[in-house]
Amino acid sequence: MKPGCRCGGFECPQCQAWRSGPAAGIRAAAIEAITQAAAHEHSFPEWLADVLAVAAGQLGSSYELIAGRPGSWEASLVDELVKGTVGYNDEYLPGHAGRGGQE
Ligand SMILES: [Zn+2]
Repeated sequence: MKPGCRCGGFECPQCQAWRSGPAAGIRAAAIEAITQAAAHEHSFPEWLADVLAVAAGQLGSSYELIAGRPGSWEASLVDELVKGTVGYNDEYLPGHAGRGGQE
């Protein structure tokens, strides 16, 4: 999966298409998924860390999760959570060569 644009510009056709298309539906789906997981998972934090790790693997690196705004406090907390699972150099990134997966 190829990461999107993330420039956030109002004139950017790629960002415009994201905002007017899948963004709202994906937010709602994420809220539903996270609500259900928090209600039913024995260890929700572990579940969330795993979900972030798999998403990072699909995007190609853990940095892709925070690439849009790497300096924010939210980014540093997301980075801390995902790095605890995939390693500080992405050595355990799902789908990464270091974990027996393929690129
Ligand atoms: Zn853009």
